[in-house]
Amino acid sequence: MMQTHLLLPESDVNAVQIAAGLIKQGEVVGMPTETVYGLAANALDGRAVAKIFHAKGRPQDNPLIVHIADATQLNTLCPAVPPQAARLAEAFWPGPLTLIVPKAACIPEEVCCGLDTVGVRLPAHPLARALIRAAGVPLAAPSANLSGRPSTTTAAHVLRDMDGRIAAVLDGGPCGVGVESTVVTLAQDRPRLLRPGGVTLEQLQGVLGTVELDRALYEKIGDEARVSAPGMKYRHYAPKAPVTVVRGQPQAAAAYIKAHAAPGDGVLCFDEYRDCFSACVVACFGAQADLAAQARAVFDCLRAFDDTAVRQIWAQCPPNDGLGLAVANRIQKAAGFRTVDV
Ligand code: AMP
Ligand code: MG
Repeated sequence: MMQTHLLLPESDVNAVQIAAGLIKQGEVVGMPTETVYGLAANALDGRAVAKIFHAKGRPQDNPLIVHIADATQLNTLCPAVPPQAARLAEAFWPGPLTLIVPKAACIPEEVCCGLDTVGVRLPAHPLARALIRAAGVPLAAPSANLSGRPSTTTAAHVLRDMDGRIAAVLDGGPCGVGVESTVVTLAQDRPRLLRPGGVTLEQLQGVLGTVELDRALYEKIGDEARVSAPGMKYRHYAPKAPVTVVRGQPQAAAAYIKAHAAPGDGVLCFDEYRDCFSACVVACFGAQADLAAQARAVFDCLRAFDDTAVRQIWAQCPPNDGLGLAVANRIQKAAGFRTVDV
């Protein structure tokens, strides 16, 4: 088992250089970004990228996002950037938006898993950009969790899943957005949202006009399915105990959960309902109206249930507007789309 070093830029001025050195040697490093932590390796080195799949236990057909430090690097990863991709990059980079575009030949097979497209993102987190610059190459990075588990939003979460599996974690503190990037494909006739995230559907529509929604946003996709974002078909973000989402007016959802939860069950709820489930293990993920707080806290709350003895989890969930679409998507995926409408 390899030793995983925790690199602390606040106390060690060389932390970024050390992390970059490991990446140059073909190793995998936990990288803070504004969305969630990533598992980063040299995107142009197929053997380094293969180590990411090994560390996560990630299915071999689920491609990785390539992270760049400068928007002009998009041109080296994509031979002909679609005009709509350029407009989105201009509007939302650096930031939580991944653009799926036709891929250049320099990108190894391991990154794209047989697709003729690549996902590219310019993160806003200063340490992520510093690491990409210091490494001198684009970095392939999926979320830094064991495959299927909730994503990681602190360096402690990353160590929990990855200790002994990767060379180091660069600690950048808790992530500011908390859910993964929005993924939109520009490689087909019409722009299509594959994964909701920190850049909202309404923001995309503001730039592009209409944006189609992939069906993976709303339903469980069969394991054998060929889908636009292969990652969308896998069980995702899931704590160990099964989750049931209760959708509807928060009052009504709380009443339903209160009526159905057994003593000792877990409840993920808005802050306003903290005291409603006295016999349960309660995790609050933000005030009802504070979608940004919910996005920051949702994975931490889902992970925290794994340190308890809960046998099932009930979850409130925001409506699909704005950032709510991304938060609700993560909760519904954690539940395998097991939903009760009240
Ligand atoms: P993760 O980095 O673990 O959050 O997962 C990255 C997401 O982006 C997964 O859902 C992938 O399937 C998706 N993705 C990455 N590259 C591509 C691509 N070339 N085409 C479609 N989806 C992609
Ligand atoms: Mg992931």
